[in-house]
Amino acid sequence: MPELPDVETVAAMLRRRVRGKRIRRVRLLTPSTVRSPDPATFTRLLRGRRVQQIVRRGKYLLIGLDGGLTLVAHLRMTGDFEITDPKMPIHPHTRVIFEIDGRHLRFTDQRRFGHMDLLTPQGLSQFPGLSRMGIEPLGPQFTLAKFREIVRARRGTVKALLLRQDLIAGIGNIYADEILWRARLHPARRIESLRPDRLKHLYSTIRSVLRTAVAGLSRYGRPVGRFLAAREQNGHCPRCGRSLAVDRIAGRTTYFCRTCQR
Ligand SMILES: [Zn+2]
Repeated sequence: MPELPDVETVAAMLRRRVRGKRIRRVRLLTPSTVRSPDPATFTRLLRGRRVQQIVRRGKYLLIGLDGGLTLVAHLRMTGDFEITDPKMPIHPHTRVIFEIDGRHLRFTDQRRFGHMDLLTPQGLSQFPGLSRMGIEPLGPQFTLAKFREIVRARRGTVKALLLRQDLIAGIGNIYADEILWRARLHPARRIESLRPDRLKHLYSTIRSVLRTAVAGLSRYGRPVGRFLAAREQNGHCPRCGRSLAVDRIAGRTTYFCRTCQR
């Protein structure tokens, strides 16, 4: 499932290939992909608009168009955008086709959980998924002091804390495991039990894991991280060589090393 680094990779591709281009026509192959407005209004409003900017917020993609509209997309499980030649056969999982200046921007989604909304500035400011979104962990506002403020007086497991989108945006199950392994923290460790130096280490690990993943991803699908790679390959801890443990923590299947993570 795409997380911050994956969505950032898609955003970067859209910035390179779609920014400044005009949407000539929209074909909705699976109308239920669009949540608002209704399909006819969606395609009519998009026609002729120029793509001005692409922003990632948490796991959302915000495609800013001229005239003040924003196309908000969430990839959920299997959503993806691709640029193709218009003559390329249409893949059965293609849900929406945006015809842009001689190319196609196609939204594909095998599992169909991905969705889009076309919003006015007012609609955007009130959009539920975005208005309650936490801080961007790679943004300049996410300082150590800010992180300490977020965790202050908070209780529960560190894993659950990392997954809270309303506190810190964009970290999902996969990268939470990589972060906790690197920080040598047991995922069920209580956040209130962490001393200041371990909190500081967790803070810098969040930044470095996400930064490394953003820099290392060319396309999502293969997560970037030593722990994640080891988990997929042989299930042994890359630090101590012991078998990784798997448990349900914070409601999610969680991999960790019983020896290295305390
Ligand atoms: Zn280990």
